[in-house]
Order: sequence, then structure tokens, then C-alpha cells
Amino acid sequence: MFDVAIVGGGPAGLTSAIYCARYGLKTVFFETFDPVSQLSMASRIENYPGFEGSGIELLEKMKEQAIKAGAENIVDKIVKIVKRGENFVLIGEKEYEAKAIIIATGGKHKEAGIEGETRFLGRGISYCATCDGSLYRNKKVIVYGSGREALSDALYLNDIGCKVLIVSRSPIRAENALIEEIRKKGIETILNANIRRVEGKERVERAVIFLRDKKEEITIECDAVFVAVGIRPATDLVVELGVERDQFGYIKVDREQKTNVPGVFAAGDCCNNPLKQVVTACGDGAVAAYSAYKFLRRES
Ligand SMILES: Cc1cc2nc3c(=O)[nH]c(=O)nc-3n(C[C@H](O)[C@H](O)[C@H](O)COP(=O)(O)OP(=O)(O)OC[C@H]3O[C@@H](n4cnc5c(N)ncnc54)[C@H](O)[C@@H]3O)c2cc1C
Repeated sequence: MFDVAIVGGGPAGLTSAIYCARYGLKTVFFETFDPVSQLSMASRIENYPGFEGSGIELLEKMKEQAIKAGAENIVDKIVKIVKRGENFVLIGEKEYEAKAIIIATGGKHKEAGIEGETRFLGRGISYCATCDGSLYRNKKVIVYGSGREALSDALYLNDIGCKVLIVSRSPIRAENALIEEIRKKGIETILNANIRRVEGKERVERAVIFLRDKKEEITIECDAVFVAVGIRPATDLVVELGVERDQFGYIKVDREQKTNVPGVFAAGDCCNNPLKQVVTACGDGAVAAYSAYKFLRRES
């Protein structure tokens, strides 16, 4: 029997584990290789205060710290969580019981299905403008997507000095204010178009785009393609518990990282928080641990 079981061994889960263990709670955190932590895919982290290096390096340091603080680490994919009396039973290859749970399962950026997308990942293909944008200052980049995320990425990249082109499979679907800002800043847009493939020797050098209206293919020289076609949060696990999610599948939490189900907290990219970064995942994780601690002490 654990006091707190944390599903997730990314920055959110590991921060929760450090805090819970330091509160003196019997703590376990679960991780799996499917999906792995998104942090392990980040080739270089330069925006987490006090650290510069690879994502794997940062993740390993956090994990070491969580285990040193006293948290137990189990590699097991949790496929179901049910209530047993007051407690929660987490079912993976084995069963585990805990008095409170923190869901920190992250999410996975959706792939766009561009030929060459996997081959050039980290070499001109990026799923994170905030993370990789500064590598492409003064360079030509394409943002591929039609929603709010794509437009925000385009504005950010434009602001830091990239020459931005938006390619969208459909009409733009975002708030008027964002669309107006794109127009004011003179960011070019190609609508109803698919990026069919990216080409280059070692890195992305050009994108081949199919214009659906004209039924013709064009080639555009570029240094990077930022794919912004959405994130799929890994939250199916909580459906049976009755945890509320928003229309996109993110777990709804309040400022204390509480869900609508007592004893269930959530942190990091699986939540409906506005910014999905390592530093915010860690912040969520600390708050979730504090709330779990108060819940177990019957303080809230
Ligand atoms: C390519 C790339 C580059 C990035 N670069 C940066 C950057 O430069 N700076 C920055 O701040 N952010 C960056 N990010 C974003 C950052 O990695 C995420 O915001 C952060 O990792 C979110 O942390 P998390 O703990 O919420 O989720 P994740 O890191 O995704 O961790 C989720 C954890 O949950 C586990 N899990 C999921 N489901 C289960 C299950 N059913 N059972 C057991 N375990 C489960 C996974 O194994 C994993 O351990 C980048 C992301 C990507 C993909």
C-alpha cells in the first residue's frame, strides 16, 4: 500500500515524486516506454533555469533525485485505475494500491504524416517552436497547422526573427485577434495545402507542397518545418474513474492541481494548462504533491 502513486516519470511525475517523498509519504512513480517522456526526445534544453544540456540528461538527473529522496520507481504501463473502498487500485502487469494518485502521463505531439518527418526529427523537423525556434533566427521556416497552436507558433517565430510561412491543410481555425495579428505582421499563408515531403541531405532544405485547389505541387526552400497539428494527451486511463476532461482530452484541474474526483490530482502536459514545457510541468508536479499531502492529512 502506497500513500501516493504517481503515473508518469517525466518532469511532472518526477517533481511530484521528489516532493511527496520529502513530505514523508510512501511514494511510487510509474513509467513506461510507450509513451516515453517527451523530455527524452528533446535534443537540447536551454530554457529550464540552471540547466543546459540534452533532455535525457535532465530527465536522468530528476529521476536520480526522486529515487534518492525515497520514491520507488516501477516500470509498468498502468492500463486501468479503479476505486477499492477509499483507495485506488492501479492495474498494469501487476496491481498496486494507493490512498491518492497523481496523473502525470504527458502527451504526444500528433505527427502530420509528412514523408521524411521521422528521418529529419531534430534536424529541421520540430514539434516545439518554443523549444527549437531560436535555432532558426533569420532563417526560413514553415509552420504546418491551422489552429491556435500553429498561429501562436508562427507569431512567436516571427517575433524572434524567423521568416515564417504558414501552410495549412484547411481554413485557419483560431480567434480573430490571432488571425488579424498574422495579417498585420505580414506572415504569408498557404491554405488548403499538404506538405507531402521534406527533402535535404543532412537537414531539411526544402518542402514539397501540394496545392489542393490548383492540384499542383510546388517546392519551397526552407530550414525547418514546425509541425503544429495538435497534441494527443495520454488520459484515457482516467475515464473510468470519472475524471473530467476538456473537449481535447486534457484533464481539467484547478489551481491546486485537483481534479473533480477526491484523491485524484494531475500535473504536466496531460492537464488543461496553458503552457506545455518542462518548467511548468515541474511547477504543476510540486503543487499536485502538496495537494496530495494535504488530502492525506485530511486538510482539504
Ligand atoms: C522534441 C521535443 C522537444 C522539446 N523541447 C523542450 C524544450 O526545449 N524545453 C521545454 O521546456 N520543453 C520542451 N519540450 C516539452 C517537454 O518535454 C514537455 O512539456 C514535458 O516533458 C512534459 O512533462 P510531463 O511530465 O507532463 O510529460 P512527459 O515528459 O511526456 O512524461 C510522461 C510520463 O508518463 C509516463 N506514462 C504515460 N502513460 C503511462 C502509463 N499508462 N503508465 C505508466 N506510465 C505512463 C511516460 O512513460 C512518461 O514517463 C519538448 C518536447 C518535445 C517532444
